[in-house]
Amino acid sequence: MQGIDLRDFLDPKGCLSVASGAERRLGQFLAAVVAHETDLKRVDHLGPECLSCFKEQVDTETRADGTIGWNCYACGSQGRIAHWHGSLWDLSARDSNH
Ligand SMILES: [Zn+2]
Repeated sequence: MQGIDLRDFLDPKGCLSVASGAERRLGQFLAAVVAHETDLKRVDHLGPECLSCFKEQVDTETRADGTIGWNCYACGSQGRIAHWHGSLWDLSARDSNH
């Protein structure tokens, strides 16, 4: 299980701070997972394309401990994201703040 603190990928404004390479792709993937999981109006059941195998879209879920987890059924890649609340991709906050 890969545990990730989303804040490690953000600059003080809350944007993705990693400039290039694999880490940036990971940051974009994490952002897409958070946006997918917190989008209460989403139509697609599955989230962004798996970063490990690029074959399947990952399944996302909010866990009991408040982290957002993802799981790829094709390659078994999985992980969880902590400290995503209030990030730019937390769409649930956007919906409830007005
Ligand atoms: Zn995969």
